[in-house]
Amino acid sequence: MEARVCARATDRCAVLHPPDAIAGPAVRRARLFAAVLFVAGAVAARPVGALAAEPVHPRVVLVSIDGLRADAVTAARAPTLAALAARGAAGTALADRPPVTMTNHASMLTGLSASTHRVYLDTDLPGTIAFPTLFDFARAAGLRCAFLASKDKLRHFAPPGAVETLVFASDTAGLIDTVLPLLAPDGPDLVFIHLRDPDSAGHADEWMSPAYLAAVARVDDHVARLAAALAGGLRPRSEAPRDAVPAPDTPGAGPRPSYLLITADHGGEGRTHVLDNAATRRVPWIVVGPDIAVGDALPGPIRPADTTATALWLLGVAVPAGLDGRALTLVKGRFDFGLPSVPGSPSAAPRPALAPPCFAVAVPLLAALAGRRRRGNA
Ligand SMILES: [Zn+2]
Repeated sequence: MEARVCARATDRCAVLHPPDAIAGPAVRRARLFAAVLFVAGAVAARPVGALAAEPVHPRVVLVSIDGLRADAVTAARAPTLAALAARGAAGTALADRPPVTMTNHASMLTGLSASTHRVYLDTDLPGTIAFPTLFDFARAAGLRCAFLASKDKLRHFAPPGAVETLVFASDTAGLIDTVLPLLAPDGPDLVFIHLRDPDSAGHADEWMSPAYLAAVARVDDHVARLAAALAGGLRPRSEAPRDAVPAPDTPGAGPRPSYLLITADHGGEGRTHVLDNAATRRVPWIVVGPDIAVGDALPGPIRPADTTATALWLLGVAVPAGLDGRALTLVKGRFDFGLPSVPGSPSAAPRPALAPPCFAVAVPLLAALAGRRRRGNA
């Protein structure tokens, strides 16, 4: 397995993690601003009592299955995914155009739509994306993040200052081996895992071919291992044995409440996913957790950008008002983790300036026009 594991990425992996300077001063300023806003917001919103006793914090495991079509998830082809969809809240997301890996991971991990983040090239991109990511928001609220991906180009969405554990491995079975220890009760609060198998099989042998469906079955097994590792934490509180329910002020006592959010970046047709149709754009979107409404069918279509907003909401982090996506508040009732759930928070998502301020263009233009008029009048 070609895996590079970097615990505490910021202090030990300078070679693997390009300096933030690559992203440019505007991005660094935006990130700093985001950090200040969100730390301030999280602390301000946190109940006074929660500062005295650190509460059990819910965990979110976000799984992106590259190239998984919505109609590939059936009880026969992907029994674990189908069972999770049945026991949690599930729906169909419509991938942003173009339905490719980089565009839709940008949407999924920033909470912005493609027309806002403008990541259209499906290739290796330098540095990190020019917008705050899910990991920036979570880190600024004091949470710990892990990022495990089976394609190296996804590094573009893993800000070195926000992700403390960064792993790349093309062998997804090895990637699962690596992630399981991170699911210990004291592991990271937000774990992102990317599994490439269906996309690779689709390009090699066509989407929905026997090889593609075998790859779907393989990632279904991977998800089964994740779900088994999280089993106690995913269980509805009403089903948990009384002595297994953690008290809010005793971290690590019993299973840690966890949410498993599973989606995909795009589907495919033939040996590619360049066309704009249901086969390339309709992907599954599934959430399972202790207080998720069982068997709830989510109203569609869900947008990829909704993933960031929903993950933050599940984590108890204020959802920035500036996101294009919205949190799908899909629970019957929430636990009292001692942390706020703030959908629609007034906190603003800072965005770097992609264009010069309008006065920088308008003033020289008006001056030139005025000069021409004076010359014309002379
Ligand atoms: Zn592909």
